[in-house]
Amino acid sequence: SPADLVLEVNNIEVVYNKVVQALRGLSLAVPRGEIVALLGSNGAGKSTTLKAISNLLPLEDGLLASGSIRFQGQDTARLAPQQLVRHGVSHVMEGRHVFEDLTVEENLVASTYALTGRANAGKPDFDLVYEYFPRLHERRTGLAGYLSGGEQQMLAIGRALIAQPTLMLLDEPSLGISPKLTEDIFTIIARINAERGTSMLLVEQNATVALAVAHRGYIMEGGKIVIDGPAERLASDADVREFYLGMG
Ligand code: ATP
Repeated sequence: SPADLVLEVNNIEVVYNKVVQALRGLSLAVPRGEIVALLGSNGAGKSTTLKAISNLLPLEDGLLASGSIRFQGQDTARLAPQQLVRHGVSHVMEGRHVFEDLTVEENLVASTYALTGRANAGKPDFDLVYEYFPRLHERRTGLAGYLSGGEQQMLAIGRALIAQPTLMLLDEPSLGISPKLTEDIFTIIARINAERGTSMLLVEQNATVALAVAHRGYIMEGGKIVIDGPAERLASDADVREFYLGMG
């Protein structure tokens, strides 16, 4: 029933600069407590979908031209991105976006400021982050700019975790990261989901690792969903693998 859906995206259209139609009637849903993978080739519209969900598409950039988005049953159209974070939606952007000139710990503090809008918000729950990312504890006084790509990705996820989100939007956690670290990060993503019940919408080019942790998957092409189903079924379907996931 819809009550069990933490996110419902209904028939949305996004047009960039009045000419590039990035999404064409896209619909998807995230059941509470599940990891949902959103897969597809370059330019399919995956990042645009996540930006639309967190209201990061201002009118002059990408216009959410029609359709609706509901988070826990509430229409999100009038919520600013920051309000959405406070309501429980955390977006880990593609390319990490940590503050390179701040230490690991200062990055986590900055996340708390952003969340509460107050400079004296108190100490964030560092332990929550270090429990999942012991590596960040070891590097806590070091500048984020000196972390490896994989460690920066961990910090980006850790910053989102500080908000104790109901729904995490993850944009290509594997981007530019070694296979070993990618595996580590996906193991932690699965643990966060299993232990905290955090629902997740996971955008990935690496379909194999994404479908290994996801409960369900959607495959996008040309701004809309072309196939969806249980993750194991998508991972084992020969046609899906060959034609949509480039896995022959
Ligand atoms: P990738 O994995 O390469 O990021 P994607 O599936 O996330 O691909 P999007 O980044 O959502 O795809 O892009 C969807 C389409 O919208 C593409 O044709 C892209 O060129 C276009 N697009 C994205 N952002 C903008 C923008 N700010 N202005 C104009 N066009 C854009």
